[in-house]
Amino acid sequence: MKRIIVAIDGFSSCGKSTLAKGLAKSLHYAYLDTGAMYRAVTFYFLRQQIDYNDPAAVDEALNHIHIHFERIDGQNCTFLNDRNIEHDIREMWVSEHVSPVSTISAVRRAMVHQQQAMGARRGIVADGRDIGTVVFPDAELKIFLIADVDVRTSRRHLELAAKGIDAEWDDIKKNLEERDRIDSSRADSPLRKADDAVVIDNTLLSEQQQLEKALALVKEKIDS
Ligand code: C5P
Repeated sequence: MKRIIVAIDGFSSCGKSTLAKGLAKSLHYAYLDTGAMYRAVTFYFLRQQIDYNDPAAVDEALNHIHIHFERIDGQNCTFLNDRNIEHDIREMWVSEHVSPVSTISAVRRAMVHQQQAMGARRGIVADGRDIGTVVFPDAELKIFLIADVDVRTSRRHLELAAKGIDAEWDDIKKNLEERDRIDSSRADSPLRKADDAVVIDNTLLSEQQQLEKALALVKEKIDS
């Protein structure tokens, strides 16, 4: 069967990773969480006290950052230099710095290079902010997810609570809005809908309904 690339973009906490994981599972494809990669870089900069406004320090630090993914007990886990940091990178102190770090072109170049290598054999579902526009502009299916900001905040709140991460609803909402603002307005690879992306508004959709809609779109692309 034809193996395609599915690119999923959208604002923060729109359910991109839930949809991407569901699609990858149904299709037996790989799942690529590009947001986790930017979070891993941010985690490294903060922990190593790298001044990310200093281009030379960023270039030097990028040589020491190695990110890979492993599945552990059915969960997708992000590793930084062979250490599992999946839990740490979801913390608010990382979320607060990840969008400024993601504006840095040297960081983006390094991540995009690695992401494109991971998708070289197709059969991959990737989610992020620039997947359909920059990372995989030739993806057969591009989905742009949108949802109401209060619904997104509540989903994020529940997700963090389930992981044992304590965060205030208002702080989460502020962080989502701030990240959306920075991600959409940055000069390098701003978040935007690719011209050929299909928009899905999942404000009123269950996870299952959203997955079914996307699977129907995948089927169209594979059969065409
Ligand atoms: O997807 P997630 O919310 O974990 O992404 C965290 C942050 O990483 C985003 O707010 C954005 O600043 C950055 N990001 C990016 N490009 C991507 C994926 C994420 O700039 N492809």
